[in-house]
Amino acid sequence: MKKPPLIWLNISVFSITFLVASIGTPLYLWFEGLSLGLVVAFVALSAFSGLSITAGYHRLWSHRTYEAHWTIRALFALGGALAVQNSVLHWASDHREHHKHVDHKDDDPYSISRGFWFAHIGWMLREYHAHRYGDYSNVKDLQNDPVVMWQHRNYLTLTLAMNFGLPILIGLAIGQLWGALIIVGFLRLVLNHHTTFFINSLAHMWGKRPYTERNSARDNGVIALVTYGEGYHNYHHIFSGDYRNGIRWYHYDPSKWLIWSLAKLGLAKNLKRANAYQIEKAKLEVMWLRLRDRRHTVAERLEQEYDELLTHLRDMYMQRKAWLSVRRSELQNSVEASELYSQYKELKRSFRRQRRAFKRQLRMAAQTA
Ligand SMILES: [Zn+2]
Ligand SMILES: [Zn+2]
Repeated sequence: MKKPPLIWLNISVFSITFLVASIGTPLYLWFEGLSLGLVVAFVALSAFSGLSITAGYHRLWSHRTYEAHWTIRALFALGGALAVQNSVLHWASDHREHHKHVDHKDDDPYSISRGFWFAHIGWMLREYHAHRYGDYSNVKDLQNDPVVMWQHRNYLTLTLAMNFGLPILIGLAIGQLWGALIIVGFLRLVLNHHTTFFINSLAHMWGKRPYTERNSARDNGVIALVTYGEGYHNYHHIFSGDYRNGIRWYHYDPSKWLIWSLAKLGLAKNLKRANAYQIEKAKLEVMWLRLRDRRHTVAERLEQEYDELLTHLRDMYMQRKAWLSVRRSELQNSVEASELYSQYKELKRSFRRQRRAFKRQLRMAAQTA
């Protein structure tokens, strides 16, 4: 099948930012070194853009797990432009398709069924979903949010202002213009890009599935560390209406803590959580289905061995019959009779061995059942 055309804008953005960050950063560090100002600005803007995607684009807008004051929404819209991941409207539309058709080869925009590379970045490099680019019918609710529409209309300006204007201002303030552009601008963007992309790639491959095995999403504490808590992706795919992804207190989920804190400050409300009964039930169901599958495979194996044992038994008695009939005939004690007899004896010995093994397996299966 012919591949759809390449999207040169995206390819340029990803490759240029990657090249500037990977070549510029070591050069800058070698010649100019790192300063506290740069480190603080790097961490602050990383968190700002990262959390705008996770707590804003994802949990607020795509899944409507809570409501936020317009000032917070405006900040998330700016932080999202800083993250260079398209407008909220577009991002949420793709993401809702992802949830609706998860793992489907064509309908899930970043389907893991097409491999790691496709789910990570490949899906943005070609016109795979050109047919629905302008179709925002699955995000009609978001079109009523003036902040969303303002960001969508001014996306390019906002992206340029946030990614060049802001680092330049920071650079001038701390007296390290190039450092701010390279490290706070480019390096921060590339790292944020790929860690976010890990949620579509790695978090659909690596980790455990405690809540559902119906899709590929995994829970993974390591991925959560670099994605502001989005690593608990197995939970998220079944309980996507929950403002939390890591639901235990020890789960690293800064997006959840941010939303919770905003609510305490009166800047967010109606935080939704999944029903604890449903969560527990989902976990029990996974355990039960796993056991049932295992029992099914054991039963299948036993059945096969039982059939083999019966065949063996039949062969053994056929051999015995052949031997007896030769013995009864005049050729008694002939070479043929003794040969048949020794073959029968051998079959009998191996039958007994097989029967012992089968009994042992039956006993084991009965104990674990
Ligand atoms: Zn997913
Ligand atoms: Zn989601």
